[in-house]
Amino acid sequence: MKYEIKCIGLLTSGGDAPGMNAAIRAVTRAAIFNGIRVKAVYKGYKGLITGEISEFQTQNVSNIIQQGGTILKTARCMEFHSVEGRKVAYETMKREKIDALVVIGGDGTFTGARIFAQEFNIPIVGLPGTIDNDLYGTDSTIGYDTALNTIIEAVDKIRDTASSHERLFFIEVMGRDAGFLALNSALASGAEAAIIPERETKVDQLEELIKNGFRKSKNSSIVIVAESEITGGAYGLAERMHKEHPEYDVRVTILGHIQRGGSPTAYDRILASRMGVAAIDALMDEQRSIMIGIVNDVIVHVPFTKAIKDDKPVNENLLGVIQILSI
Ligand code: ATP
Repeated sequence: MKYEIKCIGLLTSGGDAPGMNAAIRAVTRAAIFNGIRVKAVYKGYKGLITGEISEFQTQNVSNIIQQGGTILKTARCMEFHSVEGRKVAYETMKREKIDALVVIGGDGTFTGARIFAQEFNIPIVGLPGTIDNDLYGTDSTIGYDTALNTIIEAVDKIRDTASSHERLFFIEVMGRDAGFLALNSALASGAEAAIIPERETKVDQLEELIKNGFRKSKNSSIVIVAESEITGGAYGLAERMHKEHPEYDVRVTILGHIQRGGSPTAYDRILASRMGVAAIDALMDEQRSIMIGIVNDVIVHVPFTKAIKDDKPVNENLLGVIQILSI
């Protein structure tokens, strides 16, 4: 006989990402459609510890598909790192009669979920919600496409001023040691180059740029830099340019938290809606400790251990495409 799930807890955790609300809506409605109650857990795992929980009806998720951020709030919860903290979370779940969890977040969220599921035998399914796109097992994460679009809008504006003053701009984007945002925003905004941590471990990309005759035919240039200790970030690279190539008039822009905000794109809304429904299907099908992914347009189930540990490679060939198109 199947383990019957009567009530799920739903939370968002880690960094917020546009499209999380669309995912909350989809999970809530798919659960209610299947006769499963939904308890909204606020502020990530923190809500499981403090008991900040309320039951959602279908109207609680009305009019949120287009909103950025997360109506459930999110938080980094240190208590959940300890077994004592997780015990309190488990007691809360029992008290609230929550049989299973759907967690929306990044690799930290899934690391916590994997441990919690194992310790207390709790069915948990995850949805990849992070702008970084750094989770193995899905072509895209919820929020990545919106962040990419936000970046290119900003870069288009910086390009206007860069060309008026004949300057070189280093524009730093998020990515926490993953080059997806930098690489693809560089391609989409017509930047001259992307500097990403994955390649920096193999070559000195700044030297490579200069050697390749970077900016031969141009007065102004835009280089997108992934935030990372490995790349040195935009400020680190600008400092090097100042010392090693003082002939360049260098400026730095850090896009920062603007990249997390805004209304999700159609792509992210569709992704979140499909994944939300798939999460409920998976729970009803007795899937446990997996992340929902979409690969080549097909829903896949990725064990948390794989999603967290396996590296998702960036397509470094795109660096060559950027170079060809920047002559
Ligand atoms: P993002 O990629 O956007 O930063 P994330 O899910 O990786 O999202 P984290 O802050 O790393 O964000 O993790 C979110 C939460 O997951 C933490 O605040 C903590 O409550 C829980 N968590 C992370 N790692 C662990 C762990 N090793 N053990 C238990 N809980 C964890």
